[in-house]
Amino acid sequence: MKAARLNEVGADFVIEDIPTPEPGPGEVLIRIGGSGACHSDLHVKSGEIPGVAFPHTLGHENAGWIESFGPGAEGKGFEVGDAVVVFGGWGCGHCRFCLGGKEQLCNTFLWGGMGPEGGYAEYMVVPSVRHLIPADGLDPVEAAALTDAALTPYSAVKKALPHLVPGTSAVLIGAGGLGQYGVQFLKLLSPAKVIVVDTDEKKRQTARELGADVTVDPRDADAAEQIRNAAGQDGVAAVLDFVGIDTTMALGAGVVDRLGIFVLVGLAGGSFPFSFFRVAAQATMTTSNWGTRNELEEVLALARSGRLVSAIERHSLSEINEVFERLATGQIPGRAVLVP
Ligand code: NAD
Ligand code: ZN
Ligand code: ZN
Repeated sequence: MKAARLNEVGADFVIEDIPTPEPGPGEVLIRIGGSGACHSDLHVKSGEIPGVAFPHTLGHENAGWIESFGPGAEGKGFEVGDAVVVFGGWGCGHCRFCLGGKEQLCNTFLWGGMGPEGGYAEYMVVPSVRHLIPADGLDPVEAAALTDAALTPYSAVKKALPHLVPGTSAVLIGAGGLGQYGVQFLKLLSPAKVIVVDTDEKKRQTARELGADVTVDPRDADAAEQIRNAAGQDGVAAVLDFVGIDTTMALGAGVVDRLGIFVLVGLAGGSFPFSFFRVAAQATMTTSNWGTRNELEEVLALARSGRLVSAIERHSLSEINEVFERLATGQIPGRAVLVP
């Protein structure tokens, strides 16, 4: 099969012919319909996410069709040819996180596309049918993006929802592939005013089209003041940071109000300036790591109801280096999905 291989940190992807994998006991072979190009893979490429073993086939946002079952995987509700969405936060299945329904917290390097081989290829092996959800009418290319670009901000927004009482504001930093779904979840699920911060005017324009009430350029000297003024008296009850550099975290830490929450999603490696008088009283800071399988079901249900706008670009696998070059330079308007 064709696969886009990353042979070492810093290298370009190389399209190679490698043996099509055989599904082992309990496993399922998926023919990839689409695999989303996530900014996280830029962090892998640059070595900012350590621990990935090379050579490797990345690609953790996947949907497609069941090609074949390994021994014992058949007869569990799926048939060969079924269109399926792949939940990628695979874990051991036995620890308290997995059994508690938060399998994505088990071990990042069990995730498909981080440890096991991912979907920048014609086929990938999924370790269990429990990670498959029927596509049920969704286009596999769009559904691929929903498995991370939409699931991750959905899970982040849910962490913020208890704080977002009427009158309060939410600040979303970074309206790219993930952030554009984040804006929509905030508008769909919360009563909060939505303030979007992005350095790129085109992304701010898109955010306004998706319902953002106010947009701010963080390079303005008075960006924090613009945010506080827009939020008004009830303040910023939640900040969602989809960038994660020192300056975005400092901005978020500076505007989050008392009892508010700062949710870090971006993996750019910055630090949060936490000290008693630098953050508002009793504000909470947390990371948000992908999402749960149940949350993915919820996202898919919202998509099927027609209430999510997806800005998907389709590209052939052979265009993968160009796609990641454009992602690195902020030229992908929404999400790019690779179609083998
Ligand atoms: P993207 O490149 O599509 O979007 C990034 C957006 O941030 C762009 O709109 C860009 O203009 C904007 N931006 C860049 N610098 C900025 C700044 N200083 N201030 C404000 N906005 C700025 O990326 P993506 O695929 O949406 O991923 C976003 C981040 O989320 C990445 O770091 C990625 O690794 C991470 N991620 C985390 C998880 C998780 O589970 N925590 C899951 C998926 C992705
Ligand atoms: Zn991702
Ligand atoms: Zn586990």
